[in-house]
Amino acid sequence: MDFSLSPEQRALREEVIAFARSELGRNVADGDREARFPVGDWRRCAEFGVLGWPVPVEYGGQGLDPLTTIVALEALGYGCRDNGLVFAIGNHLWGCAVYLLEHGTEEQKARFLKPMCDGALIGAHALSEPEAGSDVLGMRTTAVRDGDHYVLRGEKWFVSNGPEADVFVVLARTGPPGRAQDALSAFLVTADLPGVDRSRRFGKLGLRTTPMGAVRFDEARVPASCLLGREGSGYSLFGGTIEWERAFMFAPHVGAMERLLETSVEYASGRDQFGRPIGSFQAVAHRIADVKIRLELARLILYRVGWLKARGRMALLDATIAKVFISESLVEAAATAVEVHGARGYLTDWGLERELRDALGGPIYAGTSAVQRGVLAELLGLRGAVSGAGGG
Ligand SMILES: Cc1cc2nc3c(=O)[nH]c(=O)nc-3n(C[C@H](O)[C@H](O)[C@H](O)COP(=O)(O)OP(=O)(O)OC[C@H]3O[C@@H](n4cnc5c(N)ncnc54)[C@H](O)[C@@H]3O)c2cc1C
Repeated sequence: MDFSLSPEQRALREEVIAFARSELGRNVADGDREARFPVGDWRRCAEFGVLGWPVPVEYGGQGLDPLTTIVALEALGYGCRDNGLVFAIGNHLWGCAVYLLEHGTEEQKARFLKPMCDGALIGAHALSEPEAGSDVLGMRTTAVRDGDHYVLRGEKWFVSNGPEADVFVVLARTGPPGRAQDALSAFLVTADLPGVDRSRRFGKLGLRTTPMGAVRFDEARVPASCLLGREGSGYSLFGGTIEWERAFMFAPHVGAMERLLETSVEYASGRDQFGRPIGSFQAVAHRIADVKIRLELARLILYRVGWLKARGRMALLDATIAKVFISESLVEAAATAVEVHGARGYLTDWGLERELRDALGGPIYAGTSAVQRGVLAELLGLRGAVSGAGGG
């Protein structure tokens, strides 16, 4: 095993960090307070190539291999303090573009991928519903074939990027009600279609610069050419792409953890109480050391998923472990940073309370920690806990 980065990967990492520090997240405190999507930063990311990192060059992307994509995303999370912007990018890439890459026809790829890499189209993933969160197979949105169209009826909730998105990957029921896995299909639905309403916004605790909302389908007529894969394959498409989402969406978290760790070390070294740096107290030092342990283990499992995907191998087990461990570790890193900074950590001016609010979403989205543990238990042969479960 070789864990070292190539000279090219190291150079890319430095370049991304420099870009993210100087160009992104400059107004993150205001953006967070006003729950404002940073359109200018999104455009800068598009110009820098971020929105096309994993997309092959022939479709307008940068064509980075999976491991290099992870290195770049980790650097983005480290350099950019606007976790909401980074999360919006994650949804665009791993909730939408990856479906096209893995299952799109040449026509679909040609139509959507280039403008998604350019930043002209914003992508989103519309899976969850008011009555069907973890229980994906319980979804009620229907798509009924009518000539060369499908008619969509229903409502999706919690759709990240939703209120700003131009194209959604939507999972809907094309088969009878019930728990059959072949009853779902995936569609590419554009926001400009009559009957698609994405105007309802949700306010939320963290990641406030990522817009989130509901998407309603009121007899929306979606051309049959926008079906992804074949009719009835939606759940299996979701199962395949979720491997990417569970790991690659969380690559920036590893970078954010490193940033928070450095902040904690710096503060604990410079803040004196009782005549000595607080970092010399074992209680403080050990809390910080635990973050370092988590950071290194998080990186290892993440790189392992990248290594597996680079070889075209299945990574469900490792991606599920990565999702749980990295998301929970980021919460620990942010809570530690707040605690180490005392009252300053609690003040909005220092930005650490925002980091903690942002981190708290990770164990919920892309399938909750509890559901992921159920998935792991099933992969170990313990039957029954979460079949049909997921989460967007
Ligand atoms: C910041 C954020 C962004 C999101 N972005 C998107 C998006 O872009 N697109 C999208 O479609 N969705 C999105 N979601 C929704 C997310 O996928 C769901 O919140 C998640 O799947 C859980 O569904 P739920 O909220 O309905 O909770 P529920 O499924 O109702 O679960 C509630 C609680 O019960 C527990 N639970 C449920 N079933 C089980 C079980 N079988 N075993 C053990 N515990 C269980 C859960 O762990 C949780 O603690 C986002 C959510 C958040 C917080």
